[in-house]
Amino acid sequence: MSRSDLDAAWPRATRAAALAALDAFVPETGEAYARHRNRDCGPDQPGHVSRLSPWIRHRLISEAEVAGAVLAQHAPEAAEKFLQELCWRSYWKGWLELRPAVWDRYRVQVADDLESTSRDTALHRRLHTAMRGETSIAGFDDWVHELVATGYLHNHARMWFASIWIFTLKLPWALGADWFLRHLLDGDPASNTLSWRWVAGLHTPGKTYLARADNIRRHSARPFEISASQLAARAPACSEAAPPPPAGRLAAAETPTLGLRSGLLLTEDDTSAEHWLAVPASDVVAVAGLNASRWRSPLAVAAPVLAFSDQALGDAIARAVRHWQAEAADPAVTSTGEALRNWIDAHRLKQLIIPWVPCGAGRDRLAEVLGQAGVPSDVRVCQPRRPWDDYCWPLASSGFFRFWKALPDWRTLLG
Ligand SMILES: Cc1cc2nc3c(=O)[nH]c(=O)nc-3n(C[C@H](O)[C@H](O)[C@H](O)COP(=O)(O)OP(=O)(O)OC[C@H]3O[C@@H](n4cnc5c(N)ncnc54)[C@H](O)[C@@H]3O)c2cc1C
Repeated sequence: MSRSDLDAAWPRATRAAALAALDAFVPETGEAYARHRNRDCGPDQPGHVSRLSPWIRHRLISEAEVAGAVLAQHAPEAAEKFLQELCWRSYWKGWLELRPAVWDRYRVQVADDLESTSRDTALHRRLHTAMRGETSIAGFDDWVHELVATGYLHNHARMWFASIWIFTLKLPWALGADWFLRHLLDGDPASNTLSWRWVAGLHTPGKTYLARADNIRRHSARPFEISASQLAARAPACSEAAPPPPAGRLAAAETPTLGLRSGLLLTEDDTSAEHWLAVPASDVVAVAGLNASRWRSPLAVAAPVLAFSDQALGDAIARAVRHWQAEAADPAVTSTGEALRNWIDAHRLKQLIIPWVPCGAGRDRLAEVLGQAGVPSDVRVCQPRRPWDDYCWPLASSGFFRFWKALPDWRTLLG
């Protein structure tokens, strides 16, 4: 598969495809979703969940747009379960944003675990047997093949998978999170890292998630031959050197200065800026993209994941160029500091507008590229943030249900 192209069987990384999928699923977000969302129907059957996550992760459509479409057809009480699940994403994003050290420690943990794996042949063998889907644990092996073939797993399968990885196969949780991040089209530094930490008992101290054979048989539409004796009977919490730091403050977002000759730098973390960023067309003269997807992991990221984010950025740049009547960089997606600096100089930019890049590989890479570019001191670097994030993220200081209760009413949230 080429980097810029996705096979027709994969979801298209365009805003038009995202809107069509949202439109088709909105009628299902009421009671039917609440009743059936836990059932994993597998890759070949229509399921009860939306599969919107790859588009939402890249923000080809936003949480606010999804919630707005749902509330246009359902009362908030009728769609509460769906809206709560959607807000789990905002909760995880905010939680990590307030504690970026948890991401930094995760990256160090992945590097340390890879190092240990290279020295420990038994661990190396177990890890590769799991990643090839050759454990002989029915279900687990199927999910490995499903994830590699489709870039997606149902939420319940992700929970079972992570639990079996950690407690039955006794593999390092961070390497499981890394493997997901390399294969999920929706691979997200917050939702993924923090969900793995939750299963491992590191998010809510001492509370782990144990996958049970009867639960898998009950909630999976596929007839997995799985027995209780194949799975760990206990899930003792993983430990770490120090607990996560207390929540810090959300860094201040910035507002673009009007009247400055500006370049818009888009990343795979926000690919629909024209729907919220209020800057006049006369200010934005040029648009470029920066794709950090291959920096999600120290190991190779799956080709469909790279292709999805490339295509999403290409779609975003084309829309932004039309919206602001600006010029696209050539090549449109920049990956080095030198290319970024040439683009700034060629357009005589006085302001670089970069829609907020949340905590994760995207932000790490952006910092490196800006450093390499040596952005001139008279060029303002401005990182505006979506109102939804400004409302939600500061509330993610403790547990989800406190966060959910503290959210402002929908009218305020949707602006
Ligand atoms: C171990 C593990 C790893 C995960 N890794 C990721 C990840 O990398 N990226 C990711 O987007 N989600 C991740 N999730 C959360 C969840 O599994 C997916 O968001 C969900 O399965 C996506 O499918 P959907 O779009 O059909 O969801 P739906 O049920 O239709 O929900 C609609 C939207 O709400 C959000 N959402 C739903 N459930 C959750 C949840 N539990 N946590 C956060 N957001 C949620 C997603 O944006 C989703 O598209 C992970 C969960 C686990 C247990």
